[in-house]
This record gives sequence, C-alpha cells and structure tokens, in this order.
Amino acid sequence: MAATLSVRQVSRSFGGLQAVNSVSLDVAAGEILGIIGPNGAGKSTLFNLIAGQLRTDSGTVEFEGRPVTGLATEALVRCGLAKTFQTSRPFGTMTFLENVMVAALLRVPGIATARRIALEQLETVGLAHRADVPAAWASTGQRKRLEIARALATQPRMLLLDEPFGGVDLPSVDALIDLLQAVRSRGITLMVIEHNLEAVHRLVDRLIAMHLGEVIVSGSPEQVTRDLRVVQAYLGA
Ligand code: ADP
Ligand code: MG
Repeated sequence: MAATLSVRQVSRSFGGLQAVNSVSLDVAAGEILGIIGPNGAGKSTLFNLIAGQLRTDSGTVEFEGRPVTGLATEALVRCGLAKTFQTSRPFGTMTFLENVMVAALLRVPGIATARRIALEQLETVGLAHRADVPAAWASTGQRKRLEIARALATQPRMLLLDEPFGGVDLPSVDALIDLLQAVRSRGITLMVIEHNLEAVHRLVDRLIAMHLGEVIVSGSPEQVTRDLRVVQAYLGA
C-alpha cells in the first residue's frame, strides 16, 4: 500500500546543533506509528518540520503522494494533515466550544457548520459537558483532549500527536487510548510521540526510536523497546 506520509532525508540544525539529521520514514494509511527517544532526540523538531511549523534545511516530505515540503501549517491542515502540540495552548478566555470552532473554521467557512463540527468533536473526546466554560478551566487531561478535538475539527486524514499522554493521570490514559483507537478506526492515520512506554505498547502498530537527531531503530514495539541501542540511548550511553 502507498504510504500516506513519506519523509526523505529531512534535516534541520539550530546554530551548530543538528536537531534532525537526515531522517527518512514512511507511515502507511491507517497505521498508528509511535516515536520514542530521550529528551532532545529531535522528535518534536521532526514533527514541526513535517507539519510546517519549521523550515527544513534539506529533504522532502510527501503527504498522500503530493510534495508538501515547506507548506505552512494552515495549508497542510487544508490538505488533511494536522498536529497537536506538546504543550497545548488553548485560548483561555474562549470557551472549549469556541476553541474547537476556531480550528473548524480553517476548513469550513460558515459559523453554523463550524459550531456543529465543533460540538461533534467535543462529544468525540468526551468534553461536550464543558462546551460553554472557559478553556482556562481545563485540567491537564482535558487540555489534551481539547487539543485533540481541535485537531479533529480540521477533519484530518492524518494526525500528529506530540506527547498526548504527558501529565495525564492513569484512568485518563485508558480513556485516551480508547479515544485514539476510535480515531484510527475512522480511517485517520496517526503518528504519536510518547514517553509513556506502557501506553505506547498498547497503542501503536510500529515504533521508531530516535537519538541525537537520527532514527536508530524501527520495528514492533517489543523489538524496539528491547533493542540495546535504544536502552543505551535512554541511559545516555
Ligand atoms: P525532543 O522532542 O525529542 O525532546 P526536540 O526536537 O524538542 O527534542 O529538540 C531537539 C534538539 O533541538 C534539542 O537539543 C533542543 O534543545 C534543540 N532545539 C529544538 N528547538 C529549538 C529551537 N527552536 N532553537 C534552538 N534549538 C532548538
Ligand atoms: Mg518533544
């Protein structure tokens, strides 16, 4: 099957630091691909390069067979590629619903339609009851789900999630795994950066480990987390 996302030899440095060094990977349609690696490995930078939040120094990105290298985030969202942030930043003075409507309006012109889509997505992530309260009131877990609702409201065919389980308490981890599996079963391809290895094992089909800007291992979650190179990377060896 053709890859939904193809990343070819993508690199990016900051000053003298090679944050992402010639990374190549493919994500298949309908797949859930996990990315692990110690802090500073280049995971978020890679996502930002794919999602148009940072410019690549070199390399190419193709989404659904179309070159998208260098496209801005809004253009990518219109192509069906969306991303959530490691640190989500809802507009605190706006309500949950309004936050999701802003995202929906990237894809649909009318307020009424955006409102309907936003309500549906709040429902999907289990936040419909919070629709009319300020987003500043969100707990950490709710903020993660709000961020997912905002991404879903752009009607993506692929979603990049940067540490969706970060700061989420244990019962919410289960709910979030169920939610992401439901998202995938709607045909949305997922790429997930995550530190919570237990959640990773339960969620992903395939795992990639990064270290010092490079992909060091790729395979099943069991293979990758047991690989000596991955263990050493986490130990800083
Ligand atoms: P990860 O998400 O795997 O923890 P990052 O992609 O955030 O890693 O960071 C990779 C490296 O690039 C780190 O050393 C980080 O300090 C550096 N870095 C990331 N973003 C910037 C930036 N905007 N300016 C300078 N250095 C950056
Ligand atoms: Mg990161």
